[in-house]
Amino acid sequence: MTIPEALRFRAGLQVADIDPSATPGFDGSKADAAAVQAARSQRLAELQEMLYASSKGGDDHRSVLLVLQGMDAAGKGGIVKHVVGAVNPMGVRYTAFGKPTAEELAHDFLWRIRRALPPAGHIGVFDRSHYEDVLIVRVRNLVAPEVWGARYDEINAFERELVDAGTTVVKAAMFISLDEQKEQLLERLDDPTKHWKYNPGDIDERLLWPQYQEAYQAVLDRTSTDYAPWHVVPANRRWYSRLAITEMLIEALEGLQLSYPPADFDVETERQRLLSS
Ligand code: AMP
Ligand code: MG
Repeated sequence: MTIPEALRFRAGLQVADIDPSATPGFDGSKADAAAVQAARSQRLAELQEMLYASSKGGDDHRSVLLVLQGMDAAGKGGIVKHVVGAVNPMGVRYTAFGKPTAEELAHDFLWRIRRALPPAGHIGVFDRSHYEDVLIVRVRNLVAPEVWGARYDEINAFERELVDAGTTVVKAAMFISLDEQKEQLLERLDDPTKHWKYNPGDIDERLLWPQYQEAYQAVLDRTSTDYAPWHVVPANRRWYSRLAITEMLIEALEGLQLSYPPADFDVETERQRLLSS
């Protein structure tokens, strides 16, 4: 079984049963993963270039959207730096979603999301996403239960629309353990060069771990669809979560059956013109 297959959410899976240190679909060590990662990052970069080229050279409007969700210190930033960082930034549209601004709050929750969707030929990366509107918003009662409760169906309809318009939606829910989060947050405190990543509010969310587990369970149960399935990514071992999400992107891009667009000019004629210029 490939890594993405092993991680695809299956009905009935309980968040409480996830082993954040597991490495589903990969039985090698960290050292083995390093060699595989290098080769697969290169493959990802090639595919991304083809996706970008297809949109420039023709009328291919397809795109890919990577949705990253996870508790603080789950490694979302590392995925952006190491996995997405391996491809040409020209073809990437990255957006981090924090606490909504007053302007964003004045609109429907999907308003800011729609504005950040990847253009044709791009890989969009959502560092947090519309799922915050059924995670922190649910846990912290930021809107009435009827309002967040209606959002699961709204999200499914929204993602259906994206997929129908040619966007492959790749969703990664990254799970670290409570202990691993403590280690990671401690590292941030112990290292002055990591203080910028630390937010005192992270502890407040950490104290609500069981409520978040419940909210993540609802997300998986209610928004994993055949057109936009969730992948449950164990994230205690960062080398594994990075490889896993690399493989998920490769799978999505290979599914598009990409190829370089043919020249829309005569190559020989151009060669002669160039040589005699
Ligand atoms: P970070 O990703 O660490 O920069 O933190 C961003 C913070 O913004 C997290 O605590 C998120 O839960 C929070 N956030 C993101 N989206 C929303 C939202 N729609 N409503 C409220 N808080 C949000
Ligand atoms: Mg943070």
